Amino acid sequence: MQSINQFIEHPLLAEKQVTLVIKREDLLHPFISGNKYRKLKYNLLAAQAENQHTILTFGGAYSNHIAATAYAAKEKGFKAIGVIRGEELESSWKTNATLKKAYDDGMRFKFISRSDYREKESDVFIDDLRNEFGQFYLVPEGGTNDLAIKGCEEIITKKDKEFDFICSSVGTGGTVSGLIKSSFLHQKVLGFSALKGGFLNDEIEKLVDNQRWQLVTDYYFGGYAKTSEELIHFINTFKEITSIPLDPIYTGKMIFGLFDMIKHDTFAVGTKIMAIHTGGLQGIAGMNSVLKKKNLPLLNI
Ligand SMILES: *Cc1c(COP(=O)(O)O)cnc(C)c1O
Repeated sequence: MQSINQFIEHPLLAEKQVTLVIKREDLLHPFISGNKYRKLKYNLLAAQAENQHTILTFGGAYSNHIAATAYAAKEKGFKAIGVIRGEELESSWKTNATLKKAYDDGMRFKFISRSDYREKESDVFIDDLRNEFGQFYLVPEGGTNDLAIKGCEEIITKKDKEFDFICSSVGTGGTVSGLIKSSFLHQKVLGFSALKGGFLNDEIEKLVDNQRWQLVTDYYFGGYAKTSEELIHFINTFKEITSIPLDPIYTGKMIFGLFDMIKHDTFAVGTKIMAIHTGGLQGIAGMNSVLKKKNLPLLNI
């Protein structure tokens, strides 16, 4: 499956004579957003091949990965279990748009404390889960494993050869690793970190097979899912100019960073850049409910 490449018209791009195209992976599927579609594809095929009937995975309260897994599991006829960070959600998850939708798609939850959540990859913890739920196919947090990276390699296609730079937001690093592996020899992949991830350089290095990449760490806005009025304003203005919605956790930070770099003449005249819209738009409702409580401006939907 291929998504469309959208040419972006914007005064800054015209002034700096830089070409920007956004690959609309967010439009791949109405509920399995962008890169999560790519990351789940081969995992669900593997689960089918193993004759598994249940998918179990992990995530936070607003997780794009939880939303995507719930829907994809339903579509392919699996049961789905989401192990969710935060015991306090046990009583309030019905007011959380992401979890409510995942539940309606058939996912069932196990809420655990933040300290248990940190142990979630341990053998003891997984064994306990198998005792509780029986057999399942485990998809790690954020969906990143070898099969996920294989799926993300398919984001870049032959027609993308004309670009000099490929840009993607980075959470766990799975998506950008797929892009790095399938990039063309003359291309450079820029990964924009969505969190304070000093560890991410080492992590990505372990997953890839070449040096055609760089991690950009100046635009994470204080941490994962942290935001600012400046970022919200940027996302709203970008949508007014281009009609493209960005999410505040990943793609908004990437495009903000990319425009800041373009403003500061990081790219030579004539450079052709492709940025991947990895989706994540389902998270806007949850972010707006948080912003509203803090009396901050909201994201235009
Ligand atoms: C999960 C996610 C990412 C990060 O992907 P990783 O493979 O974990 O680096 C980027 N953008 C969006 C919209 C996401 O939902």
